[in-house]
Amino acid sequence: MPSPRCDSYYSASIHQESDYPRLQGELEVDVAIVGGGFTGVATAVELAECGYRVAIVEANKVGWGASGRNGGQVTGSLSGEAAMRKQMYRTLGEAAADFVWDLRWRGQRIIRERVEQYGIACDLKQGHLQAAWKPPHMPALQADLEACQARGMGEHVELLDARKVREVVRTEVYHGGLLNRYNLHLHPLNLCLGEARVAESLGAQIFEHSPVVRIDHGPSPAVVTENGCVHADRVLLAGNAYHHLERRSLGGRLFPASLGIVTTAPLGGLAEAINPHDLAVYDCRFVLDYYRLTADGRLLFGGGANYSGKDYTDIAAELRPRLEATFPQLKGTPIDFAWQGMAGIVVNRIPMLGRLSDTVYYAQGYSGHGVATSHIVGEIMAKAISGHMEEFDTFAACRHVKVPFGDALGNPLLAAGMWYYQLLERWR
Ligand SMILES: Cc1cc2nc3c(=O)[nH]c(=O)nc-3n(C[C@H](O)[C@H](O)[C@H](O)COP(=O)(O)OP(=O)(O)OC[C@H]3O[C@@H](n4cnc5c(N)ncnc54)[C@H](O)[C@@H]3O)c2cc1C
Repeated sequence: MPSPRCDSYYSASIHQESDYPRLQGELEVDVAIVGGGFTGVATAVELAECGYRVAIVEANKVGWGASGRNGGQVTGSLSGEAAMRKQMYRTLGEAAADFVWDLRWRGQRIIRERVEQYGIACDLKQGHLQAAWKPPHMPALQADLEACQARGMGEHVELLDARKVREVVRTEVYHGGLLNRYNLHLHPLNLCLGEARVAESLGAQIFEHSPVVRIDHGPSPAVVTENGCVHADRVLLAGNAYHHLERRSLGGRLFPASLGIVTTAPLGGLAEAINPHDLAVYDCRFVLDYYRLTADGRLLFGGGANYSGKDYTDIAAELRPRLEATFPQLKGTPIDFAWQGMAGIVVNRIPMLGRLSDTVYYAQGYSGHGVATSHIVGEIMAKAISGHMEEFDTFAACRHVKVPFGDALGNPLLAAGMWYYQLLERWR
């Protein structure tokens, strides 16, 4: 059953709500995409720009899933970066390190250029702080700084000690941080809806409230809903943590984790006082807190994760103590919005790109780092569909753990694993 948008700061500040029809009857296109989040929509834009006839079939609304609910942080840190370098070495040899490094900066460029080219209003801003929660987090930040300097990106980053970090974010909790002026933050739902309008203006057809119940494989694949069917030359499954399709091939490989976010009432002058440079901030812990200011001066704060695959019962109660521990000056500030969404977690954290058959592809599992990654994936998938397979093949060759009986056991195992890592981190 299609669901309405979740009640969030983002849904309350949409510039232009989408109103696409349900899929009724039969349709023929070049590429059919299942899912209207960033992965589906970004791929549709890339393909439509190249002249492909594209249809997006979305179960609920465009941007209904994680893409319209996230922290809006366009980070350069990819999930699974180290694992990616190691596994991609098998395919690319020495070039793997350069490939992964390039990926790290590609998503920001794609988003910045698209927003500028098509004039998408999504409160796009620059500047991130990756904050050290403990002194042992500083050497990794220092190493990152040196890597940026060695690769000619030094001008974009600056290492801050404990005193300097307090000048950019008015909290006592950090021991330092890496300032990154290249990374971005934005209103993700307005970006996703804006990109969908771009795809539509380029000829893509979009259908909402149309859950796909089956994908037919074969030389002429099709996506099938209760009332319609899209025939295509190629299909991309982009339902991420929300879809239940193709369990035989995909079951036990991706696990939904519920992430929560709260947004305070507008803070007035306090907004600038706590975050004078309007940075997006996230800390270095395995399960981290992240926050930024909204365009109307609220603090949008996310943190923790429920790896059981179930929703939190009370997100505000969960997050208020974390928010107030970071900013005691906000004690008692009203929380106007609290919501949650499902991110797709992969055991080795390498984004999962692959083929279910000759004509049906999938892309999913960015382990909480999907705003930039989904846009990179959009570019890679569009290239693959138009016959340029190198980058897709590099991802598709990565091995992923399949947890036996994973749909039933995967989340409890993931929760246990995360608990273990958090414990190790506490002792460090
Ligand atoms: C609370 C939260 C905070 C996050 N914060 C950040 C952040 O700050 N920075 C960052 O980089 N990443 C963040 N992420 C992760 C990021 O949002 C996701 O990785 C990214 O949006 C995934 O995009 P997607 O298009 O693959 O999936 P989704 O956006 O989840 O889209 C999947 C779509 O597929 C549709 N669908 C599912 N099944 C079917 C079907 N059978 N038929 C048709 N349609 C179907 C769903 O309705 C949904 O709209 C966060 C995630 C959450 C939940």
